[in-house]
Amino acid sequence: MLRGLMMDRPLLISSIIDFAAEIRSDTEIVSARVEGDLHRYTYAGSRRRIAQLAHWLQDHGIKPGDRVATLAWNGYRHFELYYAIAGIGAVCHTINPRLFPDQITYIVNHAEDRLLFVDGTFAPLVEKLAGSLPKDMRTVVMTDRGHMPENALTYALCYEELLAGQPETIDWPEFDENSAAGLCYTSGTTGNPKGVLYSHRSTILHTLGVLAVADGIGLRPGQSILPVVPLFHVNAWGLPYLMPLTGTKIVFPGPRLDGPNLFALLDQESVTAAWGVPTVWLGLAAEMRKQGRAPAGLQVVLTGGSAAPGPLIRELELNYGLNITHGWGMTEMSPVGSLTVLNKKMRNQPREEQLPYKASQGRRLFGCDLKIVGEDGKRLPHDGVAFGELLVRGPAVMSAYFNDDDANAASHDAEGWLRTGDVARIDPDGFLFIVDRTKDVIKSGGEWISSIDLENAAIGHPAIQECAVIAAPHPKWSERPLLIAVLKEGQTATAEEVRGFLADKVAKWWLPDDVLFVAELPHTATGKLSKLQLREQFKDHVLPTIAEQPTP
Ligand code: AMP
Repeated sequence: MLRGLMMDRPLLISSIIDFAAEIRSDTEIVSARVEGDLHRYTYAGSRRRIAQLAHWLQDHGIKPGDRVATLAWNGYRHFELYYAIAGIGAVCHTINPRLFPDQITYIVNHAEDRLLFVDGTFAPLVEKLAGSLPKDMRTVVMTDRGHMPENALTYALCYEELLAGQPETIDWPEFDENSAAGLCYTSGTTGNPKGVLYSHRSTILHTLGVLAVADGIGLRPGQSILPVVPLFHVNAWGLPYLMPLTGTKIVFPGPRLDGPNLFALLDQESVTAAWGVPTVWLGLAAEMRKQGRAPAGLQVVLTGGSAAPGPLIRELELNYGLNITHGWGMTEMSPVGSLTVLNKKMRNQPREEQLPYKASQGRRLFGCDLKIVGEDGKRLPHDGVAFGELLVRGPAVMSAYFNDDDANAASHDAEGWLRTGDVARIDPDGFLFIVDRTKDVIKSGGEWISSIDLENAAIGHPAIQECAVIAAPHPKWSERPLLIAVLKEGQTATAEEVRGFLADKVAKWWLPDDVLFVAELPHTATGKLSKLQLREQFKDHVLPTIAEQPTP
């Protein structure tokens, strides 16, 4: 092999903020703060405070490889932590505040965090956990002295005081690009949360993979993005790196993420694109219906994290003229694996005809290889028909969980591909269709019923706000679908009517055996429907169809 003669410069995260401070210097970062007001500065201003924070961390004994945790909303200080911590070679460990307190305790201890940065909102939570957190871990509240919480964490340090007086420039250290930069725990359906440890190299390569399709997803100078997707989970889908590189203005929404508040902020800042999970868009769509319009300036909605219901995509596209991009990925993949990027022929089609592709999980990113396999582990064709377990491979895909032999035992196949736990088909153009989770799929009389497809059909019912389909035990068929729905405010519906609505949308044997109406559905810490909790909640539900069948 003849070696190329190019410089072997490490791919480091610090180079992104340096580039942004120089080339995108006057692009703004706006944050709706926990304190209640709006804060504004530029990438150049941010770089100065990042340098100050990095100096403080180094002066206070944070060494390369040390874990520094955050428990915070989307805001400029959280963004500063991403760069200051990784910049000095330490590991930015973002913790999801919506996890159960026991899980947070487990995570902080497992990661052996040295420092914990928290938004004031979470001071009471941290105070409550204090006895079970590492003894020598210090806590910093991310605010100024005047806003320090009065009754909790009275011993904690104050963020703005750490920065005061520190130098506003820094020469970043250089080190191996494979060094760890970020840590995020993912809570599976069983067992303790598992840590995914990102490197500088994986982060940069993931960023470049998304950048290859940047234009269609709102990443451009002169444009602005409101990340509803949290910095506390899966690197906000890479936005903290993507926005500075492309010179996209950032509008961080802080803690108020309901439809009316989001609408107001999007409107006020004329935000051009917003990224988040479908539940958030259901809330925003309800507000748009009330106001009879989309927020001023909004053009692109990127939805991911769980399947986006077809009717939601239809409403946003056809009623409000928004351009929806659907993405799929997972914590273990940095996280984006695929995005809906239409090919030339599809782009020229009327919007209506593009919708089935927008409802798909899109096409793989550069650097992310996909394969589907049957129950025997053998590869299945990408013919749009065959479906099986989806596995992935790439430089931004996790090779092993952090210090977790149990979880690593079954995470990869013999060829080293990561098992996603998703069931999918892939068509000849590379469009990915997630059919289900391996554990959520309903097996009726030996045949698979896709809970996702059923939910997508049911959400089109005009009275249904949100719904989920789970498998309920059945003596004859082994499992049958049970639909659980939340109705829109002031609306009514009956089980029979919903079944009637579905009759011409899915195969007859897919029709749910029962439809239940509830006030609210349980969600996970990342805002997805928690089928685990639903299954637990309805484990004793007896389907009305059981009485009709002779028991075998
Ligand atoms: P997490 O690691 O919490 O991001 O969860 C990853 C899982 O979320 C994936 O394995 C999928 O099951 C699910 N998921 C993410 N995005 C989508 C999507 N667009 N459609 C369907 N499922 C999705």
